[in-house]
Amino acid sequence: MLYDHRKIGREMGLFHIQEDAAGSVFWHPRGYALYRNIENYIRMKQLQYGYDEVKSPQLYDVSLWKKSGHWDHFKENMYSIEDSNFSLKPMNCPGHIQIFNSDLISYKQLPLRLAEFGCCHRNEPSGALHGIMRVRQFVQDDAHIFCMENQIQSEALAFCKMLQEVYDDFGFKNIKVALSLRPDDRAGNDADWDLAEQALEEAIKQAGFEYILQPGEGAFYGPKLEFALIDQGGREWQCGTIQLDFVLAGRLGAKYVAQDGSQKVPVILHRAVLGSLERFIGILLEHYGKDLPVWLLKDQFAVLPIKPSVNDYACNVKEAVLQFGFNAELDSDDISLGDKIKKYYHIPNLIIIGDREAKNGQVVWRKLDGSQEVIDLHIFYEKVKNVKNPLKK
Ligand code: ZN
Repeated sequence: MLYDHRKIGREMGLFHIQEDAAGSVFWHPRGYALYRNIENYIRMKQLQYGYDEVKSPQLYDVSLWKKSGHWDHFKENMYSIEDSNFSLKPMNCPGHIQIFNSDLISYKQLPLRLAEFGCCHRNEPSGALHGIMRVRQFVQDDAHIFCMENQIQSEALAFCKMLQEVYDDFGFKNIKVALSLRPDDRAGNDADWDLAEQALEEAIKQAGFEYILQPGEGAFYGPKLEFALIDQGGREWQCGTIQLDFVLAGRLGAKYVAQDGSQKVPVILHRAVLGSLERFIGILLEHYGKDLPVWLLKDQFAVLPIKPSVNDYACNVKEAVLQFGFNAELDSDDISLGDKIKKYYHIPNLIIIGDREAKNGQVVWRKLDGSQEVIDLHIFYEKVKNVKNPLKK
């Protein structure tokens, strides 16, 4: 079954796009709740892995883009503000380097991992735009790791492990990995490239991934690992990357104080796990359709007593669901069950309680597809307890 994220998104009321903001997404309450759950989850993982979260500006003077090299290579995709020297950032790296440069960094502080949910703008031709998959304004789960050469391998390995955990939590088991190696036209010397390529390859081996080599496919400034998810329709989506960079730190004057007191240029690892949040949500919708993992949703459970006499029982059920770390609402309005089911059509777990269920210590558990089962309360609780919820502390 192939899903179209635009159709699913519309039917679930998650977002819309309109012509006078072409390429940018209007997130509706249910869509933005999904978005924030993903953001909060990534934030939690990054904390576990020793990242510091930062926020850098949107607008920069063109002189910075000239120094970084983006003006020469990326100008066509950048938005500049008329009658000013400012351009919107198409990526976050130069901003993070300004944070690194604002202090005197010692080798003891490395690796320094700066993460940002960085909002970027890139001018895409209108024909290339596609729902929320290909947009002009997007947010990357971006981070830059400033480190020494002998830290590349352990940093790359930690990244691979985190990425494995994240993809697993989102339900993607099938991952394709490619290691892109030195192109003919490149910066840096061969010894640097030997070390960097070996470090990435060793990391990917230790993480237990199968991988392919792509000779000549690396950027001129360093080798990279790319991770693609395979969805339930067999389609491949390139999401995660870790890109080594020998060049940018030097261009923007980043230095640290080495053990011998000399000033050295750090290696930078550009890395993202999901890529862009907009596109990743599009992938989730094309993978799962409407049947998204419960922990990502704004509305997870609704408890629907059929008559006032069972309200107390229903209230206890709702409290128990909350205790298990899911959200739940109780609707004790005196309207027909049919109307309640219509009202909560978008909630994947409807817990219906009538006189019989209250008397027998049971509930009726109705799913998104309309299927339902009568189930003993203690078994219901056991099952809810085991519903996957990576956000639960
Ligand atoms: Zn970067």
